[in-house]
Amino acid sequence: MKLKTKIHLFSTLLMLVILALTNIGIYFLFEKMAYDTEYKQLRTQAEQLTTSLSKLNGQNDPNPVLRTYIPPNGAVRVLDAADKVIVTITAQSVDSMKKFSPTFKPNARYSIGEHDGIPVLSIQVPVIWTNGDVVELQMIQLLSEAKHNLNLLSLILFGVMLVAMIPITVSSITLGRIVTQPIEKLITAMVQSRKAGTYEKIAVPAEGKDEMTQMGQEFNDMMGQLERNYKKQEQFVSNASHELKTPLTVIESYARLLSRRGFDDVKVAKEAVHAIVGESVRMKEMIEQMLQLAKNHEQQAFEFSETDLYALVDGTLQPMRQAYDRDFILEGHPPAIAVTDAKRLRQLLYILLDNARKYSGREIKTTVLEQATGFSISIQDYGNGIPEAALPHIFDRFYRVEEDRNRKTGGTGLGLAIAKELADGLGIELTIDSVIGVGTTIRLFIPKGQLLTKL
Ligand code: ADP
Repeated sequence: MKLKTKIHLFSTLLMLVILALTNIGIYFLFEKMAYDTEYKQLRTQAEQLTTSLSKLNGQNDPNPVLRTYIPPNGAVRVLDAADKVIVTITAQSVDSMKKFSPTFKPNARYSIGEHDGIPVLSIQVPVIWTNGDVVELQMIQLLSEAKHNLNLLSLILFGVMLVAMIPITVSSITLGRIVTQPIEKLITAMVQSRKAGTYEKIAVPAEGKDEMTQMGQEFNDMMGQLERNYKKQEQFVSNASHELKTPLTVIESYARLLSRRGFDDVKVAKEAVHAIVGESVRMKEMIEQMLQLAKNHEQQAFEFSETDLYALVDGTLQPMRQAYDRDFILEGHPPAIAVTDAKRLRQLLYILLDNARKYSGREIKTTVLEQATGFSISIQDYGNGIPEAALPHIFDRFYRVEEDRNRKTGGTGLGLAIAKELADGLGIELTIDSVIGVGTTIRLFIPKGQLLTKL
């Protein structure tokens, strides 16, 4: 069964049950009020009759008095102490009532019985009979009018229920539509996306605040993100294959050269082997970096713990000082205790320091500072700098500044892309200041509170 039908049936049924219960309640309340009113009237009549009977003596015939007080459509009956009927007088219209005998429940003010399908109201009061005995006086009345009114009321209530069915049905159908329409739109968009391989979005009101609008907006955002990710992935694959093609072409051409005449000419052979090794190393490095990027994407768990940033930077600089004949200066005040993933931060620092080394020829200065809101680590080199136009693309995958590409410094253009992903994972803000001919400063900012929450 469709969700729309389910909502429709359920809400209709619920409304009908509520309406029926309300109507039943109204009916019984009205019935009780009608019986109470009739009872009060009958009681007043009984009191008057009792007063009149008390004025009679042994010689008087009580029947005329009783006849005077017969309720319309009713009867008066007198019973002695042994419950034996002394006299029964009925109104002419209801002669058959003679045989009607009410049953009284203890403590009940009146009794409601039934005669020929019509309710009968009866009350019983003790009176002093003409001979001085205490007898029971029963006043009995057929409630034909009340019955008629109650029948009319039930008819009206039933009519109301029938009429109410129209708005109930309309509102439940509308409710079903309101709930299911956005879901249907989502389903259509999803089916279309699956069939056409696109990222379909749905029309959502711009300033709606309800859950349905929110669901639509979230769906559109999700589709947008999927599309962006897909395009990024596509771009990455096309860039990667393009970048890998260059070294492969070089390797292929040198291999062909070798196979043609390389083995006879030692000089050519050496040159070919050298180029093949060089390009193979570059390819290996590129593939390793690509794998690194893929791994970062898998969102491996970061392990945050309290780390002395000063000691960590010092530990990273040490092997670099040994490996390269370069002056790596460290400034700042130890310790600088931050909460971070030491392994990942070292990896990030290594990429930035290696770039500073590759693209400059002088000393490299690293400064660790503790500030009120966090820690900053800045790496400053005095190299060529990065052109302003290149700065917005510097973190893109495979992006290399044109000159470096031409100079063949051996980079892959993946280093800073990896650095950016590591920084994002660590909650680190990266900023670059660079002036052509003066040098480049890359600053890492590690906020204090943000990292603590990652623990
Ligand atoms: P690569 O493998 O080419 O170094 P990166 O992603 O690390 O790739 O860097 C992208 C480009 O940014 C580099 O090719 C280089 O042109 C430029 N670059 C990065 N760091 C520096 C720096 N410290 N000084 C000058 N240029 C830099």
